[in-house]
Amino acid sequence: MPELFWLNNQITFSYFAIKIFQKSDTKMKTNALLFFALLMTSCVNKIDTKITSINHSDKIFQYSTKNGLLRNYYIGDLTVSDIKKSGDFGLGTFNMVDGEMVISNGNVYQVLTDGRINNMPSETLSPFVVTKFFNADTTFQLIGTYSLDSLKTSLSKMISSPTAVNIKANFKSLKSRSVDKVNDLSTTLEEIVAKQTIFNFSNVDGNIIGFWYPEYFDGVNFTGFHLHVLLNDLSGGGHLLDCSIENPTIELDFAPGVNVSLNLMTFK
Ligand SMILES: [Zn+2]
Repeated sequence: MPELFWLNNQITFSYFAIKIFQKSDTKMKTNALLFFALLMTSCVNKIDTKITSINHSDKIFQYSTKNGLLRNYYIGDLTVSDIKKSGDFGLGTFNMVDGEMVISNGNVYQVLTDGRINNMPSETLSPFVVTKFFNADTTFQLIGTYSLDSLKTSLSKMISSPTAVNIKANFKSLKSRSVDKVNDLSTTLEEIVAKQTIFNFSNVDGNIIGFWYPEYFDGVNFTGFHLHVLLNDLSGGGHLLDCSIENPTIELDFAPGVNVSLNLMTFK
């Protein structure tokens, strides 16, 4: 509303300025044109400043890589505070692979193997994150019951570049997992996953939160779908293993690129 009021005032002012301009002599006309040029410059500055201040990057931001995790780079220096400056939606893990990370509505949650979900404080550190300011490019509903495989098959026909995927659904069944924090850096990701804790839920509401990357990104990130999940009442979540969902609402946010930040802790 303030912008509309400001614009209305400019239009009213311009109408009277033109009337006076038509009745004035040459010197007054020159001065009026100079004044008008100054006014226009100040208008352009005002508009530019406003656009810059709301223009978050539409690119996906990721910290470290899949190959970094496969090389046991489990210690990073990216804080939860840093994550929130780079996106409000996404997934990842915490230092020493301390549970699964789900980023939803600007909150960074930790899903632990005992089922607890923590909204993490700003100083908590992460070695791997994929995030984005989520702004759906397309929203639609699939009608019917979908398994995770049939959901992936349907969606992959619509996606060809890195994409953030947000799915609201009622889960007839849901299977997710979390992992325990490692004690030493020699533990491989395969060994960590082998000891995963699996959660089973039925008839719950939640969001699937994740990304799709093409094959040519292999190593930079996990290719195909990498999906985490968070229940609406925060009673469960984690890395999505399987599900059966009804009439899901799908939001796809196609990214124009991916910014990859190195985990500089790996060089220390
Ligand atoms: Zn995961």
